[in-house]
This record gives sequence, C-alpha cells and structure tokens, in this order.
Amino acid sequence: MEIKQLSERTTIISFDDPYLTNVGVIFAANGKRVFVLDTFLGSESMAIVRGVIADQAAEDWPVTVFNSHADYDHIWGNGTFCDSTIIGHHLCRERVLSESAEAIVKYAQHKRGTVEIVPPNFTFGSALAFPKEHIIIEHTPGHTVDSASLSDTEGRLLFVGDNVEPPVPYVNTLDFDGFLNSLRGYLEQDWDYLLASHCPLMTDYLLLNANIRYLEQLKNWEYDIDSARLDEVHIHLHNLDSLSSLLITRPRSEEVKRHFQLAIAYAQSLDDSKMDGLLSRIRRVVS
Ligand SMILES: [Zn+2]
Repeated sequence: MEIKQLSERTTIISFDDPYLTNVGVIFAANGKRVFVLDTFLGSESMAIVRGVIADQAAEDWPVTVFNSHADYDHIWGNGTFCDSTIIGHHLCRERVLSESAEAIVKYAQHKRGTVEIVPPNFTFGSALAFPKEHIIIEHTPGHTVDSASLSDTEGRLLFVGDNVEPPVPYVNTLDFDGFLNSLRGYLEQDWDYLLASHCPLMTDYLLLNANIRYLEQLKNWEYDIDSARLDEVHIHLHNLDSLSSLLITRPRSEEVKRHFQLAIAYAQSLDDSKMDGLLSRIRRVVS
C-alpha cells in the first residue's frame, strides 16, 4: 500500500492487496469538505483512509463519498462512512441493492475487515456539481451502465473508476457508443492527472487513446485477436463472455457471428480446460 500526496488538496492511496486499486481523497478547503473517491474492500482499507483524513482535515469537515460504480471493489468500504453523504448514480444505488448479496458470497476472500453494504444515499441522473469545492460529477456510462466520473477542476484531477483500464477495459454493456462518448469526453476535459482505479496515476493520454482504439474495434467486431497481445486477448475473451448473455437475447449480425467464430477458434487453440465454461457460453452466440 502506498500513500502519495499529490498536493495539499489531493492524496492517492494505492492498495495492492488483493490487486492494485486507487482511492482518492480530496481536501476541498474552499468548501471545508473532504471527498473520498470509492471505498475499496471494507473497514480495514477505510481505516487507512480515515487516518489520512484525520492527519490533514479539521475534525468538523464533513466527508462526502463518491462511488464511481457499484462493483464490489468500489463500494465495500461504504459502511465506514454510513453517516456521510454517499453519492452515486441512481443506477449505482439500484445495482448495489440488487447485486451485493451475490457479490459478497462470490468474492468473500476479498473482504478486508468488515463489509457492511451501504448503497449511495444521494443519487443523481446526468450530473452534479459542488461549485464552491470545484467538483463536478458526471454520469459516464461505459464499463458499466452506472459508471460515473469525478472532475476536480482545482486539483486538475479526473477520476474515471474502471472506465479506463490497462491494457483494455472490461466491457459489460452493448452500449459501445456510450462508452466511446464517455472516453472521448475525457479527451476534451482539461486535466493534469487522470486517475483510474486499477493502474498507476496517469499524466498522458496513451492508455485513454489505446482504450478508445479497442472500443472502436470492438464496436465494429473488428478486433484482431490473432495479432493482439495475450493479456489483451484474455480480457477481450472475458468481454465476449460477458456480452454473450446480452447478445443471445437479440438478433445477431453476420459480423458478430464471424467475430465469435474467430474467438471460439482461438480459445480452442489454447487447449486449456479452464476455457471450457467460457467456450460453452460464447458458442451460444453463433448457434
Ligand atoms: Zn474495479
């Protein structure tokens, strides 16, 4: 775990157990308010965040939590702040309420301390602003339908949750245009620091542009599995697996079927029994 103070206003806590995840803390002195960006895996992780807040903020500064989306690794520490305002898109609240019981069983080994499921208690639709604190929150669907991003225009930091991810993002919806729109919006915003949840802090556009290229290829079912790097293909197959459940409920174009045929051939060539479940699920798209 590493605590990096970017400025008096911004601290990034990078957890590495069980995998790299960043939690941002913004000390908005202009509004005498602290913002916590996502809450990771439970009370143990958030005790560290509480310590950082106690060191740098006056006791009477309220803490406002922002949930970038409802996936478990972004909300399991909400219980530490159950008396605070917890902001999330209204679909984030719905997802926390409907998906958490299953997630807490499925990812039980990832709990760090106590996990109390607390959904956002302050929801929004398209955007929300804290003008005094120079914080703007926007619905930026992409990785998931409820994904949202937080821009700190004074600290020049843009936090995007899992919408940007190395080497390519995990895609859980068929709204590829919506995802591209969110990512292209990040290109137009004025920031010095781009913070995504699961990679080191960025100061350039390289990964953002690479993620955009991937989504453009995915959108047209033109992603070239045979010439891509193994770590990319691994996530791509994971994405096809997630998307297969959505695709089987609707008519599929020839391009979709052709792409899935290529993916099936690739997965078969790996000759790995761990692929059996994935293969049986993605085969439904071509049948
Ligand atoms: Zn995540």
